[in-house]
Amino acid sequence: MQSDTPKLGKQDTIVLASHNNGKIKEFKTLLSKYNLNIVTAADIGIKDIEETGRTFEENSKIKAENIPNKYIAISDDSGLCISCLSNKPGIFSARYAKKSGGWSVAMENLYKEVKKKKLNDFSAKFVCCLTIRINNNYFVYNGEVYGKIVWPPKGENGFGYDPFFVPKGYSKTFGEMKHDKKILIDHRSIALKKLIKEHLIYN
Ligand code: IMP
Repeated sequence: MQSDTPKLGKQDTIVLASHNNGKIKEFKTLLSKYNLNIVTAADIGIKDIEETGRTFEENSKIKAENIPNKYIAISDDSGLCISCLSNKPGIFSARYAKKSGGWSVAMENLYKEVKKKKLNDFSAKFVCCLTIRINNNYFVYNGEVYGKIVWPPKGENGFGYDPFFVPKGYSKTFGEMKHDKKILIDHRSIALKKLIKEHLIYN
């Protein structure tokens, strides 16, 4: 990245282009030490937008574009990708749960599909594609965390598919981990670290 990459300064207002409370909580914790003014799309009266893209990146950009240009926007499109199901539910993670009637049924259906394959392959990853729009330029950062899905789901923490996923090198699901621990290793923090490295002024 070039030295003229636009930077975030102290006290800049950033709009998180998300209506997902789980994600918003993670972003707020991760950004809390940088002295930025963080508000959400809902705080400035912006409604959620339909995800019409075909990739995480397209959807992430659509969400950033939904925030008025005068703001710096950070958006996230993310999801669970299960290897033996050709990365399903992927960009449809939220919609799949809604269609199934909730997270529990969605996890159960996905697990049944994996079992049906008889491959004994439970490997999966969480993917996050972050977009920052700053001075009308768009920059994209990706994060992935590898692991496996487990049955039954475990843990009450986090959100979405957290109780269903054990990251590689750990024995607990994201749902069993404390918020502060999960956000140090998850896909969102991996992508956000890259964004911070490029766009944050430390002074
Ligand atoms: P979207 O980015 O708004 O399409 O929603 C992403 C969906 O992926 C969420 O609603 C969750 O179902 C799932 N997801 C993304 N990140 C996480 C995570 O960190 N934990 C659990 N589920 C996640």
